[in-house]
Amino acid sequence: MTEASPAPLAKIEFDARPYIVNPGKRFSLHDRATRDDGGLDKQLGKDAFELLRDRLVDLQENLYAEQKRALLVVLQAMDAGGKDSTLKAVFGPVDPAGCRVKGFKKPNDEELAHDYLWRVHHWLPKRGYIGVFNRSHYEDAVTVAVKSLAPKKVWSRRVGHINDFERMLADEGTTTVKFFLHISKGYQKERLQRRLDRPDKHWKFNVADLDERARWEQYQERYSEVLGQTSHKHAPWYVVPAERRWYRNLLITKVLVDTLEAMDPRPPKADFDPSAIVIE
Ligand code: ATP
Ligand code: MG
Repeated sequence: MTEASPAPLAKIEFDARPYIVNPGKRFSLHDRATRDDGGLDKQLGKDAFELLRDRLVDLQENLYAEQKRALLVVLQAMDAGGKDSTLKAVFGPVDPAGCRVKGFKKPNDEELAHDYLWRVHHWLPKRGYIGVFNRSHYEDAVTVAVKSLAPKKVWSRRVGHINDFERMLADEGTTTVKFFLHISKGYQKERLQRRLDRPDKHWKFNVADLDERARWEQYQERYSEVLGQTSHKHAPWYVVPAERRWYRNLLITKVLVDTLEAMDPRPPKADFDPSAIVIE
């Protein structure tokens, strides 16, 4: 009898912890790689990603069946950082009945008439659901600061509010996990240029992105501060090297699977005796 070859997953028991932002330490994005493969072979990494994604699909089903807890996934990145393609790759096969993606754009008048967490709170996942935020309340602490959309007194307090808010969510049964898709300024240039070069990508090009690009360093600095101050055991930040897409997808899916396995959602036990039921 030939021995079965080991599953790719078994071969890549890699650790996502080096990508965490450690709570309480001074943090700088400059110290983190934008391009990484964790020393893994690409094909092996892709195979492992598919297995992990299947596992994610199963865990989501259990979370939904259990109806007790929720998972909030926050995605932040500079423009062209790959938020949309991450969503498609990682959450594509997850049952859309139990997973909702919400993108946060510039707040409209109604949203601006409320406190900044109002719109975010409204879109939080309910028990049993995974909620994915494509941009989030972190815009209110980062973009608002970088673009001086409010006085420093206003935006500087928000880190504290956000910490309290995410603590409350953890206490009330929503686990939060946050990903910053990390790219270099050179890589952003390549991706934006691609949108200009390919007519089928013109719709993705937004001239306003160039204004944000001009503030690259300010964004990196403010993100460094905010990530360092808002990463906690109950709501950690992961800085994902995002220039190799297969590795980005693998790492994020690994973290999601680890997070859900730690939550260990279980479908409720039947309150009837299935063997006593006869279907005519
Ligand atoms: P894509 O470009 O891939 O479609 P996107 O998330 O960049 O996705 P856009 O409509 O291009 O979407 O940009 C949304 C803009 O809204 C970003 O520039 C972001 O910084 C801004 N934004 C989001 N939330 C806030 C906020 N609370 N305050 C200020 N600006 C915000
Ligand atoms: Mg954009």
